[in-house]
Amino acid sequence: MSRKYVYLFREGKASMRDLLGGKGANLAEMTNIGLPVPPGFTITTEACNEYYENGQKFPEGLWAQIEPSLAEVERATGKIFGDRLNPLLVSVRSGAKFSMPGMMDTILNLGLNDETVQGLVEATQNERFAFDCYRRFIQMFGDVVLEVEHHHFEVILEQAKAKQGVKYDSELSPASLQWMVAEYKKLIQRTTGRPFPLDPKVQLEEAIRAVFRSWNNDRAIVYRKINNIPDNIGTAVNVQSMVFGNMGNDSGTGVAFTRNPSTGEKALYGEYLMNAQGEDVVAGIRTPQPIASLAAENKAIYDQFVQISTNLEAHYRDMQDIEFTIERGKLYILQTRNGKRTAAAAIRVAVELCHEGLITKEEAIGRIEPGQLDQLLHRRMDTSAKLDVLATGLPASPGAASGKIVLDADEAEKLGNAGEKVILVRTETTPDDIHGILAAQGILTSRGGMTSHAAVVARHMGKPAVCGCEALKIDYANHTVTIDDVVYPEGTVFSIDGATGRVIKGAVPMIDPELSSEFKELLVWADEIRVLKVQANADTPHDAQNARDFGAQGIGLCRTEHMFMDPARIPIVQEMILAQSLAERETALAKLLPMQEGDFYGILKVMHGLPVVIRLLDPPLHEFLPHVEELVVEITKLKLTGENPHELAEKEALLRKVRALSELNPMLGHRGCRLAVTFPEIYAMQARAIFQASARLVKEGYEIHPEVMIPLIIDTKELQMLRKLTEDTAEAVMEEQNVRFAYKVGTMIEVPRAALLADEIGKVADFFSFGTNDLTQTTFGFSRDDAEGKFLPAYLEKDILENNPFAVLDREGVGKLMKMGVQLGREANPGIELGICGEHGGEPSSIEFCHLIGLDYVSCSPFRVPIARLAAAQAAISNKGQ
Ligand code: ADP
Ligand code: MG
Ligand code: MG
Repeated sequence: MSRKYVYLFREGKASMRDLLGGKGANLAEMTNIGLPVPPGFTITTEACNEYYENGQKFPEGLWAQIEPSLAEVERATGKIFGDRLNPLLVSVRSGAKFSMPGMMDTILNLGLNDETVQGLVEATQNERFAFDCYRRFIQMFGDVVLEVEHHHFEVILEQAKAKQGVKYDSELSPASLQWMVAEYKKLIQRTTGRPFPLDPKVQLEEAIRAVFRSWNNDRAIVYRKINNIPDNIGTAVNVQSMVFGNMGNDSGTGVAFTRNPSTGEKALYGEYLMNAQGEDVVAGIRTPQPIASLAAENKAIYDQFVQISTNLEAHYRDMQDIEFTIERGKLYILQTRNGKRTAAAAIRVAVELCHEGLITKEEAIGRIEPGQLDQLLHRRMDTSAKLDVLATGLPASPGAASGKIVLDADEAEKLGNAGEKVILVRTETTPDDIHGILAAQGILTSRGGMTSHAAVVARHMGKPAVCGCEALKIDYANHTVTIDDVVYPEGTVFSIDGATGRVIKGAVPMIDPELSSEFKELLVWADEIRVLKVQANADTPHDAQNARDFGAQGIGLCRTEHMFMDPARIPIVQEMILAQSLAERETALAKLLPMQEGDFYGILKVMHGLPVVIRLLDPPLHEFLPHVEELVVEITKLKLTGENPHELAEKEALLRKVRALSELNPMLGHRGCRLAVTFPEIYAMQARAIFQASARLVKEGYEIHPEVMIPLIIDTKELQMLRKLTEDTAEAVMEEQNVRFAYKVGTMIEVPRAALLADEIGKVADFFSFGTNDLTQTTFGFSRDDAEGKFLPAYLEKDILENNPFAVLDREGVGKLMKMGVQLGREANPGIELGICGEHGGEPSSIEFCHLIGLDYVSCSPFRVPIARLAAAQAAISNKGQ
């Protein structure tokens, strides 16, 4: 006995998707719950796989199983396949486990030939209808199975219309249709060298073979590769008796969602056409009617459909996308599946299904793809507006913005601070452009990918960015950009859509993000379930407020370098760096102190009642100095004019300093706490600023929780020393101000040595925050910019690495160090608080890992806080009891 390759619909069920494919399993399920599904059977995915194993031959015994199944369908329908008087016609449809565009198109009306068409004429008393079915069938079969080019059929159709002198297909007379049938057959004979197969069994066999073949066509292979669908799961084939939506005005066909797929509103949403078959609804020849008007057209059918869609939703416990056909006043269901939906609809549907008692809160949370929420958390374009799209780049950071294009960061900052809306346009951005990015509404680059500097910074700041827009040619010298040979001067208004990568001319109306009431409710459920706390990375009171509004439970990373970049401060910062003596340096630092105090005052105040982790200065000092090339140019000019010897001397001194500070490998250079080992006064000033701000706020009655974070620690002694410096400063300030307040001192774990020595370092740290950006760089020995730009794509392509470790936390390597850090740190200090502040803190799979290793919190950019809240709940749900 060979294995079972063929299942009648009534023999299958929804859980048999692997074997019957999605469509087949659902047709079976619907049949068994008593819905009006035209009878049929499914040939299994195993048969498809064996077809390939056999060198493209039907498996032994397949045909022997098809024949009795076909006989069953004949009995059920009271029609006979190939019968001259009462012919059974079938559709042949592909259907893999996952819905896959690119597979064979459905063939309708299979079983027609010169004789059975007469049976159809007699059964329907409609010659036109019967021959219309026949000519469509030959065309579909010729196109899809015999691979005769589509346009040859179109030519004959046009000829038929011309001959008869009509405009529309529907006006063709039976005689014209018969003429077309004859011409189509000749066409097939001519192009394939074989006659069109008139034997229905041959037609069926060839159609099944064509479905199997389509599993390995180029489109399908590419689709599977992109979507990570394995190549060896095969497709099923569904053979189903035809029902006719084109038998007259009491017949029709349509598709409907049980809820609105773009808003989630609970109302049937869809379209139908009377007197039409299958593809007519989507072909756009006639305009379909909204589903609601079916109520007027045929109340009984409409009511029945409403009832069925309610039942299907309740049965599948999700919004359904349903295909139906009405044949002479009788309703048939041809397909149902979980409907695709926007993020907004996904949330509303999940929350309302939970209210309706169909799913639990946990299931509602599990239904949302956290990555999809991005689109709801940013401003976006009003899609009803007419857009003049100039070019498309990569959708690097979601959100949308309009503004004058500006090609220079300083200029962007100047205009931005003056209240103008600008889009910063660069070939690529570097850390020198940060101030321009900050002041801009959005960023547009002509080079660089999804992980380029511009993209990473923009995502962090929650600003829209379109990167790698190659159509854009930037001419810095003439202050213009060119797209498709049209030149746009600086100052032209452009809009960018970071969700789609579109670059648009002119301003576009925008819609502000707002958490819907359902979204808020879902997040409250997530908060009840999750174990991880969610904090945010924020460097300004404005970002801190955003984070708080999105539900952040504190600031997990407040970086201080942007505060130094402020144009009003840069000269003082440079003065500090160029100082020749401690006294000179302290003078400069004293000028920075009140400014820093103001920064921390603002942030701690917004975050009253919640922890704020402030990281002391991290980047190498040369980032605050001008570039060598710029200085050389200026010096050369000064030398040429010879006018200003004093300025020349100054610039030359600066150049010497810049050269002295320049490093071969800045990432591994003089940065982080190493700055404070050589210049403790820098951290002392920052600590003082934090504590003076704290003292003020305590006096004003605020509850504050400052936490001082020392970056890039490699050894306990380092931390001990800097902890003492911090504590001495705190004591001094409390003494001077005569107030007391609590604070914490902790460190980042961002080099392997710190993780390895966590048992020692933990004794002097109140908290660890895993800085996974640097920890990934130092664990891999990859510098991020070089890796992503040069060789990482090859590692992904060659499957050496599964994911970009800078985007998705590397559980195996970096994760092992983190686990060690957690375990050793807790052994040394049971009360130690553990978190993560790298970009991974906002990425769902990394969040799950943080849950699994028992961190206390994740910290991410403010805009990702809702995503992290949801992802943390999903992690708790899917790892229950672990
Ligand atoms: P897709 O996967 O593209 O939705 P389908 O296999 O569902 O393809 O079918 C394409 C079209 O043919 C749909 O409009 C469907 O309703 C119609 N169709 C499929 N089978 C039948 C049938 N047995 N009777 C009538 N129409 C059918
Ligand atoms: Mg379909
Ligand atoms: Mg770091």
